[in-house]
Amino acid sequence: MAEIKKPLGSNERTKIERIGVHSHIRGLGLDSSLDAHSASDGMVGQLPARRAAGLILQLVREGRISGRAVLLAGQPGTGKTAIAMGLAKSLGLETPFATLSASELYSLEFSKTEALTQAFRKAIGVRITEEVEIIEGQVVKITINRLASGERGVAWMTGKLTLKTTDMEAVFELGGKMIEALMKEKVQNGDVVALEKASGKVTNLGRSTWTTMNYDAVGSRTKFVRCPEGELLKRKEVVQCVTLHEIDVINSRTQGFLALFTGDTGELCSEVREQVNSKVTEWLVGGKAELIPGVLFIDEAHMLDIECFSFLNRALENEMAPILVIATNHGITNIRGTNDRSPHGIPADFLDRLLIICTQPYTEDEISKILDIRCEEEDVKMSISAKGLLMKISVETSLRYAMHLIILAALACQKRKGALVEHGDVSRVYHLFIDVKRSTQYLTEYQNEYML
Ligand code: ATP
Repeated sequence: MAEIKKPLGSNERTKIERIGVHSHIRGLGLDSSLDAHSASDGMVGQLPARRAAGLILQLVREGRISGRAVLLAGQPGTGKTAIAMGLAKSLGLETPFATLSASELYSLEFSKTEALTQAFRKAIGVRITEEVEIIEGQVVKITINRLASGERGVAWMTGKLTLKTTDMEAVFELGGKMIEALMKEKVQNGDVVALEKASGKVTNLGRSTWTTMNYDAVGSRTKFVRCPEGELLKRKEVVQCVTLHEIDVINSRTQGFLALFTGDTGELCSEVREQVNSKVTEWLVGGKAELIPGVLFIDEAHMLDIECFSFLNRALENEMAPILVIATNHGITNIRGTNDRSPHGIPADFLDRLLIICTQPYTEDEISKILDIRCEEEDVKMSISAKGLLMKISVETSLRYAMHLIILAALACQKRKGALVEHGDVSRVYHLFIDVKRSTQYLTEYQNEYML
């Protein structure tokens, strides 16, 4: 491979956001001291688990998570996936979040280790910064990297500093010392210096929970890049965020970039990955790219077998590893591929690496709040009695089933040209679409007619 291709233009690709079941989750809903608000960022209740996830967030930000993984243990529908996604969202908008259900590993056409490798690489982002064009005048470009909070941004220096990150815009009046340093050209090309004093106003761009607030950037590390005398940096910079997996796929001779759309990438060649790794390392060393470790969430962890666990043990030691979060609702069970039993079906050496967080069943009040959030997310207006019925259904069946009924009841309401989803609409779809319990009952009752 002569040259490593970057998936150019992927940033401009229109992102069609499907209203997924977790689309209301925007973070972990924690305050600045990492304590959990009762309801925030789309997250409701589950306070001890969210507080624990907050500490994981801190470990990640401080770069001290390596070699460890997180296990979320709890009953179905208690928010394990939601918490893993909240963790990824709290790490920043560009943080990749990849999911895999362990049972999928046995149905794919390629090996388990290949599937796990792909999943790992889908959870590692690369932020590539393209060269900017220089035209005329004199402006200094400043790259701000707030290491402690993981925020990143690029600023353009003209006496007033504008910081634009993916989800906020800030305008700072620079402290005198900084301007002085720049004026006297004391700052050298590529210097990394501490930002002496900069405070300003942060304006929410509508994509995060930030509100207008005073922002104190003291202690940020600021990288100054001086451009040649008498020249102006054109205010244009191409920044692309892609995953290692995407780079692998477009550089794979047998696949090509179309496979990214179909998702059918098949087995990728390890040589391509090695070449991609060395190229990405080159970009990192040259300051052209930044690595963004994301979150890899593996559900049904009790379905992983002993070979998968030895893969995970090795992979966690890799310096390019994402944050691994696994989840299960199984207690003591067999370790797949052996005759041994262990907690969650996980071998002792891997259990040793795990920080275990338990999720608890929700109270009726919490369920009601989650359903309210979902109605809002799906833009469905419901009468109080319809909500009451949905709540009752959720308690008796499952939260997920009740969530499915929201959009179905809205369609039933639309059909009768109603403006508000009523009790009757919910009741109608409850009878049209049966939950797992009724479905099982039905099959048991009529099994003789089905299975001869
Ligand atoms: P399973 O074990 O079956 O995979 P789970 O524990 O991963 O279940 P989720 O899929 O996270 O459960 O939760 C079910 C639904 O409820 C999802 O739509 C999720 O976004 C939502 N949900 C769960 N917990 C919360 C919460 N605390 N706040 C807001 N929404 C939640």
